[in-house]
Amino acid sequence: MRALILSDIHANLEALEAVFADAQVRGGFDVIWCLGDTVGYGPDPGACIDRIREFELVAVVGNHDCAAVGLIDASDFNDAALSAAKWTASQLDAGQRDFLTSLPMVFVQEPFTLVHGSLRDPIVEYLLDRNSAMGTLALLETRYCLVGHSHIPFLCRDAQGEPEFTDFPEDEKIELGDARWIINPGGVGQPRDRDPRPSYAICDTSHAMIERHRVTYDIAKTQEKMRAADLPAHLIDRLDHGI
Ligand code: ZN
Repeated sequence: MRALILSDIHANLEALEAVFADAQVRGGFDVIWCLGDTVGYGPDPGACIDRIREFELVAVVGNHDCAAVGLIDASDFNDAALSAAKWTASQLDAGQRDFLTSLPMVFVQEPFTLVHGSLRDPIVEYLLDRNSAMGTLALLETRYCLVGHSHIPFLCRDAQGEPEFTDFPEDEKIELGDARWIINPGGVGQPRDRDPRPSYAICDTSHAMIERHRVTYDIAKTQEKMRAADLPAHLIDRLDHGI
């Protein structure tokens, strides 16, 4: 089975469509595994939810999804994120809200575990360093863990109890094998690794082979919609820089 692994779509429909088009060219996919934050920041929250639901879909909830439906108090968000969260909440219909509300925080599909942040704190903790990786590896009951939230792509191998972070190279097939891994495919709708191109992964689950790709999209079109929706300028500008 080929799983299209998407994280942090953040209501960016142009980025999402570019990923779909690229994934189709590369052999397509059977299912979407969505690692959360489908909404928040971007101008098309409802459309992004509807679009991923057109496919076979497994999804977990992210902090911005929770904020959009009142499952968490967004008052600790920064000002831009908070105003985007309020705007997002006003854009969703009842079906879209029900969908976000129904999402689990952790989903296990052997040998993969899907979570937005970390297993220690599924929607809050950023898994980016030794300590957070150790925390998740200690709780991980499957071989592989897929995370999002930081919008930073990486591979992290459990080297006999010691997490070993490496870059997740582009356009290269990685054989996961028997090792335990934590993997972040990078962000679709608001990349933050100083590269504005949406990042995603495809996993051939029968061979435990994973590959990551990046695509280009019409950033100006998304930004235009954000301006029309009066979303914060900072959120509009950052899409140009991948920050
Ligand atoms: Zn996010």
